[in-house]
Amino acid sequence: MSIQLFTPQFRVDECLEGIRECLEKGWTGLGFKTLEIEKAWCEYAGLPHAHFLNSNTSGLHLALHMFKTEFGWADGDEVISTPLTFVSTNHAVVQTNLMPVFADVDDSLCIDPADLERKITSRTRAVMYVGLGGNTGRYAEVLRICRQHGLKLILDAAHMAGTRLNGQHVGADADCTVFSFQAVKNLATADSGMICFPDAERDARARKLTWLGINKDTYSRTVSQGAYKWMYEVEEIGFKYHGNSIMAAMALVSLRYLDRDNAYRRQLAAWYEQHLGGDPLIGVIPMADGCESSRHLFQVRVAKRDQVLMALNEFEIYPGVHYRDNTEYRLYSHAANQCPQASRASAEVLSLPMHMSVTEKDVRFICDTLKQIVLR
Ligand SMILES: *Cc1c(COP(=O)(O)O)cnc(C)c1O
Repeated sequence: MSIQLFTPQFRVDECLEGIRECLEKGWTGLGFKTLEIEKAWCEYAGLPHAHFLNSNTSGLHLALHMFKTEFGWADGDEVISTPLTFVSTNHAVVQTNLMPVFADVDDSLCIDPADLERKITSRTRAVMYVGLGGNTGRYAEVLRICRQHGLKLILDAAHMAGTRLNGQHVGADADCTVFSFQAVKNLATADSGMICFPDAERDARARKLTWLGINKDTYSRTVSQGAYKWMYEVEEIGFKYHGNSIMAAMALVSLRYLDRDNAYRRQLAAWYEQHLGGDPLIGVIPMADGCESSRHLFQVRVAKRDQVLMALNEFEIYPGVHYRDNTEYRLYSHAANQCPQASRASAEVLSLPMHMSVTEKDVRFICDTLKQIVLR
């Protein structure tokens, strides 16, 4: 049996029950279950507002669009981001006609606060922070720097459903936090996400903008009067970014199991660390103090990573790489060679299989195989 990096495990009967409710009610879109998951997520994560989206990618773009238009940022203004992320994070910056500037990472593989400070200029407006693999890295320092310099902090929490820092779920203190509920993330649906603002005004504007800019307050007012359903106001150009009730039904099921699943992921991580046994040729990414990680990933660093990866494949072990340094892509090559730590990590990191059907026996087999390979 091969061991894949990610294998989603859905609670099929419970998901189908929730989806059946939507179908029988004849309500598969916005509203109904999307409102339920928003409320449930706020309660779970201790956040004042949450708006359900069709993806995290949409949310990152929406967040920057909202701040840019609210504060009148100019085209070409700078947003500091990380080169070690899924391209969604950096595409959002370019899609908004802003300029991505890359800060290097530290040994947590998250943005290094010292390099972040060095990259701030008079045109810097915001920071995109990615909690890689569920790790918070030096988030608190980054938040402090953003406050000091008047920068908006957008937390790309795609890996962080269930991550707590000093006992508090992440997302309450950034200017905007965006979660992913994509199929291989910790809270799995097929595709969806959640955008969370600390303030009611931006939450209300986000709701308007994810439905083409239509003001649903006037909509619900006229609906409640039973007429003039078409008499809504369109106040600004928006997008079609909201989530739907089918995805929300799946999210509600996954949320019920999130803490249990994440506890198992942390158990897998503990087994990995134990069975790797401090092998000096295999670097384990350190977890930040006070971070109870969602453990979306278990990453190690090895020399000759590509060869190690191929050799593991021969044993039917299929790890992943998170991520290729984004400045190696032609699109972001204007910023090549500015983040040496990220470039080095990009050539060394390996994400070991991490999902609910990996067993301790699998972990032992993966670790023994890996130790053999790096010795060769
Ligand atoms: C998965 C991922 C995204 C995109 O999430 P979607 O919900 O698939 O749009 C963004 N950033 C990071 C770091 C991710 O891993």
